[in-house]
Parts: sequence; C-alpha cells; structure tokens
Amino acid sequence: KLYNQVQDLKGSIRVYCRVRPFLSGQSNHFSTVDYIEDGSITISTPSKHGKGQRPFSFNKVFGPSATQAEVFSDMQPLIRSVLDGYNVCIFAYGQTGSGKTFTMSGPRELTEKNQGVNYRALGDLFHIANQRKDTFCYDVSVQMIEIYNEQVRDLLITDGNNKRLEIRNSSHNGLSVPDANLVPVSSTSDVIDLMNLGQRNRAVGATALNDRSSRSHSCLTVHVQGRDLTSGNILRGCMHLVDLAGSERVNKSEVTGDRLKEAQHINKSLSALGDVIASLAQKNPHVPYRNSKLTQLLQDSLGGQAKTLMFVHISPEPDAVGETISTLKFAERVA
Ligand code: ADP
Ligand code: MG
Repeated sequence: KLYNQVQDLKGSIRVYCRVRPFLSGQSNHFSTVDYIEDGSITISTPSKHGKGQRPFSFNKVFGPSATQAEVFSDMQPLIRSVLDGYNVCIFAYGQTGSGKTFTMSGPRELTEKNQGVNYRALGDLFHIANQRKDTFCYDVSVQMIEIYNEQVRDLLITDGNNKRLEIRNSSHNGLSVPDANLVPVSSTSDVIDLMNLGQRNRAVGATALNDRSSRSHSCLTVHVQGRDLTSGNILRGCMHLVDLAGSERVNKSEVTGDRLKEAQHINKSLSALGDVIASLAQKNPHVPYRNSKLTQLLQDSLGGQAKTLMFVHISPEPDAVGETISTLKFAERVA
C-alpha cells in the first residue's frame, strides 16, 4: 500500500532551500535575503547601479526561523516511502558554514528538539514499522561512509582499520559498498550510538584549523527490507542521507598542494552530481554516472523510480553573496 502523499509528489526530483539564521554574536544583521514567499526567494545583489535583485523558485524555501521539526515534517512523506520499497536520496548542499550538518545531524550540543533529519528519519521509520507490525515485518540496517579525495571509507569501523572500499553496482544484495559495515538497528538509541561512532571516525585526522568534515562527503545509508506477512513477498528500499562537502570555490592562487587537490576533487564530484541530477530532470537518455565516486555510489538510487531531494543551504551574510548566488544557480539547474 502506497502513501497517498508520495503519489502526490510531482516528478521524482525536488529542490528545497534553507536559509541559516545569523549566529549569536554576529553584529551585522543585514541579510542578503530580501524576501521569501511560498517557494521563492529573492536575493539582494551588490550592483554598481543601485541595489540589484535576483529571484529564484524552488519546491520549498525555509527561512531562518524554520525549526528542525518543520523541516523534517515536510520531508516525512518522502522518507516514509522507503518503507514502501522506494529508493530515496537526500543531499545537503551549500558552502561551509551554511547549515548542512545542522539540517542533517543537528548542532554540536544535541537535544531532542534540535535533532536533525538523520535521527528523526530513523525514529520515524521505526515508528511506522511498529504501526504496521501486524501486516509487515521490517528489518532496518545502516551503513555510513565518507568520500574524501575520491576515496571511499567506512565510518562505522571499531578497529581503526580504515581501508579503502570499492563501489560495486547492481550487486545481488543491493549494496553498492558491500565491504562497509552493515549494522542492524531497531531503536533510536542504536542510531545515536552509531552516529556518534561515525562522527568520531570522521574527526580522525582533522584539527580545529583543518576541519576535514567540510571537505568530504558523508553518506548515511538506511537499508530497509519488509516482508509482507500475508503474501510472504519481500520489498526493499534504501535511503541515502548525504552531507556534501562545502561547495565554496577556492582561489587557485591561494591554495596549493593538498588543499588544491581536495578542492579539485570536491569541485569535480559536485559538478558530476549536478550533471547527473540535471540530466535526470531533463529526462536525458544518457546519465553521466561514471564521472565521480559519489554518483557511482548512488547510481542505483538516482533515477528510475527513485526519489531525490536536493536541499541547498545558504548563509545570510553579505560577504557570502557570491557563494549564495552560485549555490542557488546550482539548485536552479537541477530543479
Ligand atoms: P555546514 O555543515 O554547512 O558547514 P553547520 O551546520 O556546521 O554548517 O552550521 C554552521 C553553524 O551555524 C553551526 O554553529 C550551526 O550550529 C549553526 N547553524 C546552522 N544552521 C542553523 C539553524 N538553522 N539554526 C541555528 N543555528 C544554525
Ligand atoms: Mg558540516
């Protein structure tokens, strides 16, 4: 049985935008966001000849006062469709500091109220699975991986053996990274433990000045298998929750060595992702999945019957306006 709301979703690609509030302690409260109305957002752009304005339209725009609960509740039908056997990809895109991790995981000091999409999504899946327990038996398991410099690594290791993993497409068990730990979960406390483990593993090699998390993609994959207790039929769904690397362009004359290499990898994979989603949106027969590890990893979950949400994040500060416009243009292209 399908959720009516899911059938109502028009097309399989949706684009949302969220504006981060000013952070406490910031003094200049002049925002580049002129106004937000329904699904549209207008940015004030600096211009030599007086103020310029640039409008953008998306499926949904969340202003700076939107709560985590409001954001999640809008995504709920999409997330629940995993239990009906759909594949879902949710991407958090934006420059470093725009609120991607806040949306997906929450802030550093986590409370129940400010928990992000990842926790809420799993909590919701358990809740619905329990409601359907007389008709369906669900198994939920998760993987968590990181893509850094086009190398795939497992974030759920406990032995410190952070070896490179291979991506396999169309493997018989539906896992595109079969060698990454696959951990069964049945409660939100299981999920919190795993996410903490993932966060600790992600922090390895990072220092305060060298926050690697902003330069790698992290992907939490939720695999769901449901058995219809009457017919015995099995359905499988899978959801990828992806916190992307920061989309900011780096000044090539200022960075060299490792930082330049990282920047080139990020640039390449984000444009590959944009190209894939744009060709799916335009229903192009050729979809260029092979151009990055990220798109290879998600190949089976992008396109076809799968549902995609590109969730772009922007910062309100005037000095971020260049990145804000380029983020919104990226989103406009895949919408
Ligand atoms: P990113 O992951 O894109 O680099 P973060 O999620 O780390 O950005 O956000 C940067 C800072 O802004 C963090 O301190 C975060 O807690 C805060 N922040 C981001 N979005 C919000 C929001 N919607 N409400 C309150 N604080 C936010
Ligand atoms: Mg982050």
